[in-house]
Amino acid sequence: MKMTCKIRLDEFMAGLVRRNPGETEFHQAVYEVAKDVLPFVESRPIYCENRILERMTEPDRIIIFRVSWEDDDGNIRANRGYRVQFNNSIGPYKGGLRFDKGLTLSILKFLGFEQTFKNSLTGLPLGGAKGGADFNPKGKSEHEIMRFCQSFMNELFRHIGPNTDIPAGDIGVGAREVSYMFGQYKRLTNTVTGTITGKGLAFGGSMIRTEATGYGLVYLADNILKQHKNGLEGKTALVSGSGNVAQYTIEKLIDSGVKVLTASDSSGFVYDKDGIDKEKLALIKQLKNVERKRISEYTKTFKAEYHEGQKPWKVPSQLAFPCATQNEILELDAKALADNGCLAVAEGANMPVSNEGIDIFEKAGILFAPAKAANAGGVAVSGLEMTQNSMRLSWTRKQIDSRLKNIMKHIHDQCVEHGQNGNVINYRKGANIAGFIKVADAMISFGNC
Ligand code: NDP
Repeated sequence: MKMTCKIRLDEFMAGLVRRNPGETEFHQAVYEVAKDVLPFVESRPIYCENRILERMTEPDRIIIFRVSWEDDDGNIRANRGYRVQFNNSIGPYKGGLRFDKGLTLSILKFLGFEQTFKNSLTGLPLGGAKGGADFNPKGKSEHEIMRFCQSFMNELFRHIGPNTDIPAGDIGVGAREVSYMFGQYKRLTNTVTGTITGKGLAFGGSMIRTEATGYGLVYLADNILKQHKNGLEGKTALVSGSGNVAQYTIEKLIDSGVKVLTASDSSGFVYDKDGIDKEKLALIKQLKNVERKRISEYTKTFKAEYHEGQKPWKVPSQLAFPCATQNEILELDAKALADNGCLAVAEGANMPVSNEGIDIFEKAGILFAPAKAANAGGVAVSGLEMTQNSMRLSWTRKQIDSRLKNIMKHIHDQCVEHGQNGNVINYRKGANIAGFIKVADAMISFGNC
């Protein structure tokens, strides 16, 4: 019997919620995609008949494991490790590892689902995955971090490989953690392959990988503004976060002639009315990457306001780049940005804007660049790192930067192609549909299983 090709959004979501109870972040991420993809699927019976979106919202595999390690006082600690291998239709699983005390399976499923679309948009042959542990790296010694990373890899190594699954960093996992994990992977497998990306330059890492997400975000914003006969130069911007993505977003914004007014961490935000320049950014990098201190320390060296426990979105500005974490722009924050005349919001973090926030931006005519398009620069350069590892080659900074710019332009153009709504370009819709098509076509080619 032929199935009907009308799938109602509310029925689809009710089924998803029933199968994944309590996983609110995952529900949110799927809703945001299904809203665009289901109407599209209706007009393409092959996707509908093959129940592609239902299949795409079920991860290929979830691995959950115990991570035991010893702290500096000799106490045995236990954490939970995860790898969600979401979809490998267009290439081996690829996605970061997050170490955060609040990490849940719901968060990892939303991240793995998003990653599948994002990786598809890059045009590279990369599937989607995400992983990590509910481990809090804050306040841990170097030795504790090392022992945790090694213990984490003692289990993860058997599930990954250069042609199977290639992890990378994310929140709480930077160059230091990637190096400890790569070292342990190398010991356990007696191989030196490109199984983790974000490695140090001395052992297979790529130029610009550290900068890639932030730089790519600004390249995409530049493309969007140019498409709308506007530009970055002379604008003001709010940035949240002060980690990897935030730092290199600020750096590229400064280079593009933008005045960056804010930076933040999970304790509060600094508002520098004169703008964060390169000298001030160097202090942020020192505080966060080397001394591992709070952003509030900024005000001990430079004149700025510090707002404890607050987010930066009430500060008037033309551009906003949320680069910290999921759901950091809720309805009221989005309203504050709209009321202050914000022109464009580009997501550096994954799902930083709630669905209610996105609706407010769309109603206010604010250009909105969703994470799966806007922050894809990081995974794109990770893909280039994998290519260099396979070829035993190292490309120059200039070569990688030029490839990154081309990839972000290609992502922009796909969003325009699939997001055109009359005279308006809906980048959210464009990214969802363009990301979907490639994965869906691959799944259909493989047959139904
Ligand atoms: P980092 O760990 O380097 O930095 C995270 C930043 O966000 C820190 O400033 C941190 O503050 C802040 N933060 C974390 N949790 C919260 C919270 N609950 N409220 C407010 N601020 C918070 O991570 P990244 O910069 O790598 O990642 C940031 C975002 O970008 C994440 O959503 C990640 O998934 C996404 N992303 C990262 C990519 C990458 O290449 N690194 C690629 C694509 C997306 P504190 O120091 O207080 O913890």
